[in-house]
Amino acid sequence: MDKNRSPRISGIAVTVGTTTTLLGLLLGLLVHGTGYAGTSTGLPQRDTATAPPAEPKKKRKPVATSISHGVQKPGPGSAGESAEKGEGKGAGRGEGKGAEKSRTPLALTLDDGPDPTWTPKVLDLLRQERVKATFCLIGPNAERNPDLVKRIVAEGHRLCDHSMHHDTGMDQKPVSYQSKEILDAKRMIDKASGGAPLRYYRAPGGAFTPESRKIAAKNGMRPLGWTADSDDWRLPGAETIVGTVRQQVADGARIILMHDGGGDRSETYAALETLIPQLKQDGYAFGFPEA
Ligand SMILES: [Zn+2]
Repeated sequence: MDKNRSPRISGIAVTVGTTTTLLGLLLGLLVHGTGYAGTSTGLPQRDTATAPPAEPKKKRKPVATSISHGVQKPGPGSAGESAEKGEGKGAGRGEGKGAEKSRTPLALTLDDGPDPTWTPKVLDLLRQERVKATFCLIGPNAERNPDLVKRIVAEGHRLCDHSMHHDTGMDQKPVSYQSKEILDAKRMIDKASGGAPLRYYRAPGGAFTPESRKIAAKNGMRPLGWTADSDDWRLPGAETIVGTVRQQVADGARIILMHDGGGDRSETYAALETLIPQLKQDGYAFGFPEA
């Protein structure tokens, strides 16, 4: 089976895969017709330390949204629309342009928390660096750490639903299961946050389906992929994490996947301490994925 589905093909699948053709079409347009369909990339893969190692058949094309606005002034250089459609590793896009950077800000996304050890440290660092990020929360983690969820919101970051159990095979399971994974987590996150906006849904490991996108959209959440995969959950060392992200950003990636939960995040934290100032120095600004 082809896991490398493009968003457009998925939109068609919504249309033909349900009996409510008109509804599917409308929802398909809602989900796919609002600007991010052209921004998906060929980047892999899974996004967690809690999952077993990635196997090739699980490789997916995450769906990337474009990025709306930054909290800092955009870097110098031209807008470079194409940079947002970066093909990831090896694309070479954006290299050799010197100080010329896209005006599209970077979106830092942090998955699998909140974690009582690492999320506070990351929040402290983000505050110090005056950078906003998007936190993709696991439902039970949110339920266990409501004060952290509230702190994330109070400090100006955004929330993302990252399901209940981080089942990277949920795209192979019944729609009723997918719905429960998404909506149970939403209820827990909403309760923990006190009803703060929950703008995004990120499928664990990128295991989106047309149906899960539809469920997210019906509940006010935009499917959120990524274009720069730090691979921090593999624990390659902070320097490697920094290098991996900087290379992908240079190649045009704008949505950075890292983890503040799911295990020992000392390498991720150390990487962020270096990475954020370096990216700023390179002329990049930070913002949120478009919602
Ligand atoms: Zn994850």
